[in-house]
Amino acid sequence: MAKDYYAILGVGKNATQDELKKAYRKLAVTYHPDKNQGNKAAEEKFKEVSEAYDVLRDENKRAAYDRYGSDHFQNSGASGFSEGFDFSSGFQGFSDIFEEMFGGAFGQGPGRQTSSEPGSDIRYNLTISLEEAYRGTKTNIRFTTLIKCEHCGGSGSEGNKKPSPCPVCGGRGSARYQHGFITIERPCQNCGGTGSVLSDPCKKCSGSGRIKGEKNLEINIPPGVDTGSKIRLTGEGEAGFKGAPSGSLYVFLTVKNHNIFTRKDNDLYCTVPISMVKAALGGEIQVPDLDGNNNTISVSNGTQTGSQFKIRGRGMPILNSSRRGDFYVEAVVETPVSLTKKQKELLEQFGNEKDDKTNNPKAFEFLKKLKEWLE
Ligand SMILES: [Zn+2]
Ligand SMILES: [Zn+2]
Repeated sequence: MAKDYYAILGVGKNATQDELKKAYRKLAVTYHPDKNQGNKAAEEKFKEVSEAYDVLRDENKRAAYDRYGSDHFQNSGASGFSEGFDFSSGFQGFSDIFEEMFGGAFGQGPGRQTSSEPGSDIRYNLTISLEEAYRGTKTNIRFTTLIKCEHCGGSGSEGNKKPSPCPVCGGRGSARYQHGFITIERPCQNCGGTGSVLSDPCKKCSGSGRIKGEKNLEINIPPGVDTGSKIRLTGEGEAGFKGAPSGSLYVFLTVKNHNIFTRKDNDLYCTVPISMVKAALGGEIQVPDLDGNNNTISVSNGTQTGSQFKIRGRGMPILNSSRRGDFYVEAVVETPVSLTKKQKELLEQFGNEKDDKTNNPKAFEFLKKLKEWLE
């Protein structure tokens, strides 16, 4: 059966080596036997894409394939290929192609342990108040993770004895395993890929060099952080295997909403109700900022709901900078409620006095437009 190697890799006939490599890489990862334990179809597919790539990545083989088709390349076909290529080795090199591309990082399965395996990174979610984000703060956090075993100093060896080379793999750390059709190089199971064995593993950590434990850290939060800010503490994550470097701790911050102040990027907003009288006559209002300082704002006569007053440089600090955002005070005119008899009379008096065109130009304009529209 002739096979279309290009179609198998999902590329065009003129695909570049780079495109071929990319296509193969993707398919090989998907169908790799390690990811598809016991799945015959996936294994076949992996064989097929590897075969296709093995031919097409070699310009000589590719030229021959373009000319004669795949029959010449299938060892099972044994179709008397005579172009001078040596295919007697068949395709036993699949895992080599694969490893050449991915290095040893793939397919080592769970339990992979090499002497240089660093600890995992850890995420810690921390919620702080807007004031804390404004001023910056120090806070203590506690969490449970794998920490260095103090008994063996992280070496994993009781009494700090030197490990000896693994007798199974001869210290290489890896061994070849037959996986059906494919040979795969995997970490040696005897030594977990480290190439060495401990004659006397640490009694406390069973030789891993790390144990479960609690960490207590003081976190320094700089002024200006926001929800989504991350603080990285190198080396404060999970301890590494047998003394390998620790992972990092990432503190993910959430800044709580505030009852009075709203943050938009580096600016702060505060909505202040002002009386109808003050809005009409003008006057002063007192507004605190997040620092607790009092700010006096003069409100001009005729102030409307939505009028904004800007106080420059009283917003949030900008991270890693000495600058600050601005502080905006937004007025909301409050209509008086629960009027006394006297107040009602005064307002009625005012109502009789007022001239809509001059005193309420917006309402006047609106009525005019409404009339025009209805006519
Ligand atoms: Zn230990
Ligand atoms: Zn070994």
